[in-house]
Amino acid sequence: MIIDAHAHVSPTSYGSTPRYVEVLKQSGIDRGVISPGGMIDVRRMNDYIVGAKRPNDAPPNDYVVSSVEGNPILTGVACVNPGDPQAVEALDRCLKKGLLGLMVSPLVHRFTFLDDRMAELSTLCGERGVPVISHNAWRPGANTVDYVALARKHPRTNFILEHMGAAPADMEATEAAAELDNFFLETSLGNFMHITETVKKAGASKVIFGSEYPLSHPAVELKKILLLEIPGREREKILGENIRALMHLERA
Ligand SMILES: [Zn+2]
Repeated sequence: MIIDAHAHVSPTSYGSTPRYVEVLKQSGIDRGVISPGGMIDVRRMNDYIVGAKRPNDAPPNDYVVSSVEGNPILTGVACVNPGDPQAVEALDRCLKKGLLGLMVSPLVHRFTFLDDRMAELSTLCGERGVPVISHNAWRPGANTVDYVALARKHPRTNFILEHMGAAPADMEATEAAAELDNFFLETSLGNFMHITETVKKAGASKVIFGSEYPLSHPAVELKKILLLEIPGREREKILGENIRALMHLERA
């Protein structure tokens, strides 16, 4: 079973759920893990990185919940703002509605992995058996080293770092995946050499296939994994078994 572990959906022309489901079918991918999107118009991503545009900071969690209810091949992940005093309660509500993880976005929300509320959110995810998911944000407190420190403090919670860490070859991310049982790297937008080297050093059980739809196409991201020169058993872990175990998904 092939699972795309990282996609964003939003009620937009470029990233809607029906469009994503269609792209999964075209790509030969069985299931997808969706999180709220549209807070940044990814067609103009650099405007947000340089500060010319500000993100819409309200994650469309309800859109994800309703998308999952209508599509058995989809699993949903919540997004909350760790800077919001009500963030823990907001995550709890989303998990009770059936979402199976927490994505935080340090590009959209101004927080750091060192914040007390990030610790509370991580604890809740550990108690509920769902993963914490984030990208690196290229600023103090929100870099790979800070995310690794958070994972180290919460050994009962699983952490996924998107995009194989900071581009183009984040050795801190690879070393953390090799060392920590609860630290995983997700492959979307990551380059082929870094994925290859990480599988060698950290093992296939620590690498998770994802697409970062709609910014990238799931079939394009899948090709990178299909080209890895590894045994079929290892490829199955990367393509679906690892995320299935982390989110306790049933076999389709
Ligand atoms: Zn993403």
